[in-house]
Amino acid sequence: MARDHAASRAAAQGWPGVGAQLAGRLARLEIRAPRDLLLHLPLRYEDETRLTAIAAARPGFAAQVEGEVERCEVSLRPRRQLVAHIRDASGTLVARWLNFYPSQQKMLAPGRRVRLFGEVRGGFFGSEMVHPRLHAVEPGEGLPEALTPVYPTTAGLGQATLRKLIDRALASEALDDWLPAALRRRLDLPDFADALRLLHHPPPEVPASVLEDRQHPAWRRIKFEELLAQQISLRRAYLARRTRNAPALHSGGRLERALLDGLPFALTGAQRRAVDEICTDLAVPHPMQRLLMGDVGSGKTIVAALAMLRAVDAGWQAALMAPTELLAEQHWQKLSAWLAPLGLEVAWLSGSRGKRARAAELARLASGEIPLAVGTHALIEDPVALPRLALAVVDEQHRFGVRQRLALREKGNGALSPHLLMMSATPIPRTLAMSHYADLDVSVLDERPPGRTPVLTELVSAARREVVVARVRDGCLAGRQAYWVCPLIEESEALQLQTAQDTYATLCEALPELRIGLVHGRLKPAEKSATMAAFAAGELDLLVATTVIEVGVDVPNASLMVIEHAERFGLAQLHQLRGRVGRGTAESVCILLYAQPLSQTGRARLKVIFENSDGFAIAREDLRIRGPGEFIGARQSGLPLLRYADLEADVDLLEAARAVAEQLLREDTQAADALLARWLGGREGLLRA
Ligand code: ADP
Ligand code: MG
Repeated sequence: MARDHAASRAAAQGWPGVGAQLAGRLARLEIRAPRDLLLHLPLRYEDETRLTAIAAARPGFAAQVEGEVERCEVSLRPRRQLVAHIRDASGTLVARWLNFYPSQQKMLAPGRRVRLFGEVRGGFFGSEMVHPRLHAVEPGEGLPEALTPVYPTTAGLGQATLRKLIDRALASEALDDWLPAALRRRLDLPDFADALRLLHHPPPEVPASVLEDRQHPAWRRIKFEELLAQQISLRRAYLARRTRNAPALHSGGRLERALLDGLPFALTGAQRRAVDEICTDLAVPHPMQRLLMGDVGSGKTIVAALAMLRAVDAGWQAALMAPTELLAEQHWQKLSAWLAPLGLEVAWLSGSRGKRARAAELARLASGEIPLAVGTHALIEDPVALPRLALAVVDEQHRFGVRQRLALREKGNGALSPHLLMMSATPIPRTLAMSHYADLDVSVLDERPPGRTPVLTELVSAARREVVVARVRDGCLAGRQAYWVCPLIEESEALQLQTAQDTYATLCEALPELRIGLVHGRLKPAEKSATMAAFAAGELDLLVATTVIEVGVDVPNASLMVIEHAERFGLAQLHQLRGRVGRGTAESVCILLYAQPLSQTGRARLKVIFENSDGFAIAREDLRIRGPGEFIGARQSGLPLLRYADLEADVDLLEAARAVAEQLLREDTQAADALLARWLGGREGLLRA
């Protein structure tokens, strides 16, 4: 509210004729200046250019009729309403308004001519319109010549007011075309002003359906500009980062070689490539901002470890932040095991460690004595000082907000920004990578470490739960380990906990011969890690778990997973969960238990997860089923969303916009500035993380 208020004041000051209240309502639509009105485009259109004879109006369709008021009264049954009978040469029609004003009653005095626009229904007394738009016809008044735009709006802001403001802006604002004419011809895009006028006031011969599909050249012109402005802003953010300084990390590779020599495996080609790309960035005196994308199990951790060693070898510090205590602890254990033989200590920062141990470690980090730190968001809290931080690694980056990523970067040495490596197992579909993530450099691990057998996925109806329980028994008695994932209950954490405990109790009863553990989000970190450690050490056969095991848990001997109510989980989540098995050499199975009846999306999701094992393919399907909202939400960067362009439908425009953005930034910065101002107003500069 406070923001609305400030915005309305700001808007009112520079906006004659628009009072504070109106400005506040406009601000809710992100309209803060007349310029923003231009790009407030219609959702759809109504055709008031034609009249329909009352007798010819088809039920279920919108129509405009004109006639004389025969009679009009306020009727009290079945409830208070204004009822008018309108007659034209072909017949009569009844119009009803449940809410009405005296002004409307006056317009509907018998004998007056009116136009009504609305959907026709077949009523008890013949054709009816409920709440039609009412317009008194002056003698000799003609019909409008353009389709009537219907704009997205907000409470208290009527279409008529919006239309008037928009028409005023169309007449007064500059509608310069900033695209080079040659480019416009090549892409077959109309002039900006023409496109805009057409969309606000389309001539009646343009079919409304073509406009509403947004495939008309005028729409393509607008969408292209929107994508272009986005590309320009991302490219600018990228270039701005190159003007900041970071430590250039050169090293002879001594520590990296020592680590690699001690590993029981060799890097895959994809891992080597990613390490090279990262190290090339680290050697440059500007902060890296790179996303390491790799499916679950593709081996991102070792890549991060090698990058961190590069920082340490060059005399700096590196830190790794993970979203959950469980995952952070695993990383810490893994890094410690890898690095202790090299004589390197890794600090472990979590909310759960004792005060004294923590204080001592903090002091040694602050003095630069310990070169490496792993932790949860505890890492970015105040007392943690990393004066020589040169590389910050963020695992499962989508789980953090921009603010947290920024805070980690602020831990560095004032004048020099640390390099940033973000890791994600959620692959970003190509079109999103090209658009919303275009300011990042990306490395991809598209190769699985050798010796993995693919996970077999089975769909089993919950009615056959007993059979599945028996399979868990047989598998575990044969020396395998298994996960049992509890049903997801998103609405209530308490219920989620209850369900987990119930599932655990039922399984303990059904499987007395197995050693069973339970982990859920409410356990104390120490209890959680004790249970995980017991499972990893093979002291438990079956681990009953909530989605806390979704990220990063790595127990290679676990080769059977059961997911209850799989239909409730999202695709990315199912894929992550399934990725917990298939990490060793044993044949792994993932059983998806589902309850019937399945919803349409539930069915679609299970089909996708059953048919695909590749995270990229799954993400593509996810994007198709859900649309890009959630992916973009995951980025949480306050990044302006695309209002009109559609990444799937407009991929050709997106590709063109990328090239043109580069060209404009090189050759015509005035045009680039103008396009940014037009599309983003004051909202640029959000792309800092
Ligand atoms: P993720 O990309 O999901 O974070 P991890 O880094 O946890 O994957 O790696 C998964 C498992 O694969 C770990 O046990 C890791 O030690 C192992 N691993 C990583 N790289 C290789 C490789 N090149 N060859 C064999 N095993 C590997
Ligand atoms: Mg991982």
